[in-house]
Amino acid sequence: MLRLAIQKSGRLSEDSLNLIRECGISFLSASYKLKTEATNFPLEILYLRDDDIPGYVQDGVADLGIVGQNVLVEAGFPGLEVEGLGFSKCRLSLAVPRAAAYDSIEDLQGVNIATSYPQILGQYLTERGVKANLHTISGSVEIAPSIGLAEAICDIVSSGSTLLGNGLREVETVFRSEAVLIANQNLSAEKKELLEQLQFRMQAVRRARR
Ligand code: ATP
Ligand code: ZN
Repeated sequence: MLRLAIQKSGRLSEDSLNLIRECGISFLSASYKLKTEATNFPLEILYLRDDDIPGYVQDGVADLGIVGQNVLVEAGFPGLEVEGLGFSKCRLSLAVPRAAAYDSIEDLQGVNIATSYPQILGQYLTERGVKANLHTISGSVEIAPSIGLAEAICDIVSSGSTLLGNGLREVETVFRSEAVLIANQNLSAEKKELLEQLQFRMQAVRRARR
């Protein structure tokens, strides 16, 4: 039996459940439950917070997971990725107040930047020789400049309307992300075989959607 961890409730949840269903896998989903078992495939689905999924798969508590690449890379386990799933596309971007002067990344030298992604952002800045002060906050990053916590932010963007609504302008793309399937590195031969079957079905679903 394979254990697949998906986000309990959030932007990944519905597309993750739809993908599993379109693979022909049936299960009763009750949003208050922590897990469900499929009725026609040896699969158990665990419902977790997305941030917990990479660690659970790394430790083998779950065999597989569906999570955003942003969360996977931030957690420090990029090697768990098996394949991209094509949904929940978004980017991690740097933004500054609309009126602030900004010509290049050099302008962030010594600046306070609020983000929920200190690892990804830290590496991006280091690679470009920029030393900034990163302030890690877990939510509502986009209000940080207006409350005086930071002069810039780095956050998830899809349409850009949240940034605009907070008087911010996007100045650099730090990371591009989509939902990915991840797997524990030490699956048994039986589980590997099941994973291959599941991937085969997922790929067929994606081809049929095009
Ligand atoms: P949890 O309660 O599980 O911790 P969360 O609030 O951290 O949830 P969500 O906002 O549901 O997370 O986002 C989950 C993932 O969906 C993000 O990590 C990212 O990969 C993707 N995502 C976030 N915002 C968008 C967006 N606007 N458009 C598309 N995908 C997005
Ligand atoms: Zn989260």
